[in-house]
Amino acid sequence: MTHAAHPLLLGCIADDFTGATDLANNLVRAGMRVVQTIGVPDGPLDAEVDAVVVALKSRTVPAAEAVAQSLAALHWLQAQGARQIYFKYCSTFDSTPAGNIGPVTEALMDALQCDFTIATPAFPDNKRTVFKGYLFAGDVLLNESGMQNHPLTPMTDANLVRVLQAQSRRKVGLIDHVAVAQGAAAIRARIAQLRGEGVGIAIVDAVSNDDLLRLGPALAGMPLVTAGSGVAIGLPANFGIAPSQAASALPAACGLRAVVSGSCSLATNRQVANFIAAGRPALALDPLQLAAGADVVGQALAWAEPLLGDGPVLVYSTADPSTVKSVQGRLGVEEAGAMVERAIAAIARGLVERGVRQLVVAGGETSGACVQALGIAQLQIGGQIDPGVPWCHAASAAAGGSGLHIALKSGNFGSDDFFTKAFGQL
Ligand code: ADP
Repeated sequence: MTHAAHPLLLGCIADDFTGATDLANNLVRAGMRVVQTIGVPDGPLDAEVDAVVVALKSRTVPAAEAVAQSLAALHWLQAQGARQIYFKYCSTFDSTPAGNIGPVTEALMDALQCDFTIATPAFPDNKRTVFKGYLFAGDVLLNESGMQNHPLTPMTDANLVRVLQAQSRRKVGLIDHVAVAQGAAAIRARIAQLRGEGVGIAIVDAVSNDDLLRLGPALAGMPLVTAGSGVAIGLPANFGIAPSQAASALPAACGLRAVVSGSCSLATNRQVANFIAAGRPALALDPLQLAAGADVVGQALAWAEPLLGDGPVLVYSTADPSTVKSVQGRLGVEEAGAMVERAIAAIARGLVERGVRQLVVAGGETSGACVQALGIAQLQIGGQIDPGVPWCHAASAAAGGSGLHIALKSGNFGSDDFFTKAFGQL
């Protein structure tokens, strides 16, 4: 049993894939050695780490299903000896009155017999701040940030006490900035006061990293913490862990290099243009050809194979908004998306089968599809390339079970030269 010699300190449950990586990245930067698992593992943990982040896909599934998935993750983490549980959700508190933040939080509290926890999506480094219980995205309230129009989880109220109360049985309260600014003792006193008033879950104000670092010590020993990824910066110190180079150490990199991109975000469009301008070989995929049944995957691999020895190549479906709209108009939004994801995942697999061992993937959904196609079950988290995007190391079935380095970049992350810069950091 590994946890006897190396106790698992923090067991984390993340409600989506790139959110899990974001949390793992913050924990590594604060000095923890972290593994991210894709779903709940079948067997025991076989790595010596301080924290595990179990990545679920539970953000927008029906609440009962999110609860079941989260409890399965909890039970696995408890079996590994986790001392504290961290439920991670989106920094824009993505949820509806049906859930899933409230129902999952309360199910975890019930299972842990825990009568009080906190909730805060604050992540000042990413411009998410909470003041008097109101969530700001950048300079505006959440409900003016564009999130009020989200297709699945429209956020029309920035008052998180109200939002969470609407999806919780327990009474929801607020640890406001007056207490947070005074430090851990004042926060603990406020928690005692709220408990006395029958509050079970408290939203916490935080407008800076200093607020999160003051909050950290007040959470020592709390069985369950619920938050975005920001609160993670203040927790490792509770276990005597300080930032270190060793936390992000990965095995030495080897093998060929490639980038696959299925993201159509503004940032990714710039990154593709930058890679091409740098003179690197790049191949665009045409979704209409895919739909017509052409062997786009085979053609892409045949194109890439002779080039791989000379440095990274890029295969991309990245396109500007009007091109994407026209493809979606002809194929349907979901059909086009799923078809392109499948093709890019098959290309990623083919590249790894041809010796690629350093792979950058752009796109959140695209990353999920690639990780699945590569037969990756868990990722060791390494150093940060850009905020929110670390290099990872993983055993891959496509690599014959041996390891590869992989970076999973969600749409709007990363500098313009990300696709070339990333390899320089290995
Ligand atoms: P992001 O992180 O930027 O949101 P995702 O991979 O999560 O990127 O989502 C992008 C979606 O767009 C995927 O479903 C992908 O398959 C789809 N897609 C990619 N390229 C095209 C294209 N040229 N036309 C239509 N859909 C596309």
